[in-house]
Amino acid sequence: MHVRGLAVDITIGDKFITGDKADKQGGIPMGSEHDDFDDCSKIAAETPGATKCPTLSGQVVASRQLLRKVMTDDNRMQSMSSEWWHFDCFEKAKLDLKKYPASKY
Ligand SMILES: [Zn+2]
Repeated sequence: MHVRGLAVDITIGDKFITGDKADKQGGIPMGSEHDDFDDCSKIAAETPGATKCPTLSGQVVASRQLLRKVMTDDNRMQSMSSEWWHFDCFEKAKLDLKKYPASKY
């Protein structure tokens, strides 16, 4: 969906969080890095014991939930259960993908 412009990978930033309080990319810690495809990246990891991921901090869970709320309120985007950072266009199932050709770049 990314190559068709119908998905985004996004996190939350804060200009006041720096140094070892930020993740590797300067964002707010979210429990795993972007494109870490392990259990800690799953939304289920927010529930202690639901995955093999060690317990996420309350701040990490709150940050993920805030990101999901902002992105999915009013049915703008859909979250993906395996990647906390990925959001698809809500209506993708109804779209005629021929009208959204894949980018060549
Ligand atoms: Zn993505």
